[in-house]
Amino acid sequence: MDKTIERLVRPNILNLTPYTCARNEYAGEARAWLDANENSLIGGLNRYPDPLQLKVKSRLAELRGVSPDRIFLGVGSDECIDLCYRVFCRPGVDNVVALDPTYGMYKVCADINDVEYRAVPLNPDYTLDVDRLLAATDDHTKVIWICSPNNPTGNAFPPSVIEEAARRFDGITVVDEAYIDFSPHGSMVDRLPAYPRMIVMQTFSKAWAAAAMRLGIAYASPDITGLFNNVKYPYNINILTQHEALRLLDEAPAVKITAERLVELRKALAAELMKLNAVKKVYPSDANFLLVKVDDANRLYNYLKEQGVIVRNRSRVNLCDGCLRITVGNPDENSLLLEKIKQYGG
Ligand SMILES: *Cc1c(COP(=O)(O)O)cnc(C)c1O
Repeated sequence: MDKTIERLVRPNILNLTPYTCARNEYAGEARAWLDANENSLIGGLNRYPDPLQLKVKSRLAELRGVSPDRIFLGVGSDECIDLCYRVFCRPGVDNVVALDPTYGMYKVCADINDVEYRAVPLNPDYTLDVDRLLAATDDHTKVIWICSPNNPTGNAFPPSVIEEAARRFDGITVVDEAYIDFSPHGSMVDRLPAYPRMIVMQTFSKAWAAAAMRLGIAYASPDITGLFNNVKYPYNINILTQHEALRLLDEAPAVKITAERLVELRKALAAELMKLNAVKKVYPSDANFLLVKVDDANRLYNYLKEQGVIVRNRSRVNLCDGCLRITVGNPDENSLLLEKIKQYGG
């Protein structure tokens, strides 16, 4: 293992003898599977799934132009996020640094794992100050979280800024690209070979329209994906998900088209929202949602809720005073939203 990675891993994880499941020991075709105590009288779901999901990874690797051993699959990005703590951060000793505001799961997982979470405010225009980010790190900082495009602010950070952070920080830089398909900036996945301590996360929950499936991806060096594989539950990705993922990956061109369509709908929705009196500001977005500053966020949020239109009230979040986060819906949903804000007094 790469020395710079080894130095970052929790000693108990580095020394772990991982569980070897039956399906790890023999992967070929067999005439009789008598190794895993399954019920062979009934077919369908009776067999344990491939613990390393090699078919899914090989299709994904083709699509993204990476080698399959640089791919880890988790039960949503949630599992990938949690594994960053479980693999790298010693409870009560190490810390992580993240942007503020950003996605809430980084903090929740830090708390669950008893790891100190250091929030570094973005600039008021939501740009990222790398010097300030790095100033918050110390010898016990294992991970920096960069969500780009960022949730809830919606903006992506320029790849040059992310690379500068990854270059200057000697721990793990995680780039969460849940919304990358809606962004004009390219993915950092192609830059992984140049940054062996970088992890790039993506998900099937947004552009792939498969949030119900719970499938997240972490792209990283083979050292890091190997550590994640050792720590995850042996059969984390069930066979239904693996089959559905293979089916979805064949639909990649159609998925790309719907992502482009959502970007068009986002632009149209932003333009219409800006015409309304109740709306003070629509922030630029590189995602499939809009952060919208309104005159009275709590009142409008409650009014919309009563009308059956559910948005996210972010008005108590740092730097998001008076803001609602609104997902770009289908054309009918977007029209309903606009109609209701007009009725409210917009
Ligand atoms: C929605 C979202 C995810 C997706 O999480 P899953 O567990 O894959 O559904 C990840 N990161 C961010 C920033 C998100 O907003």
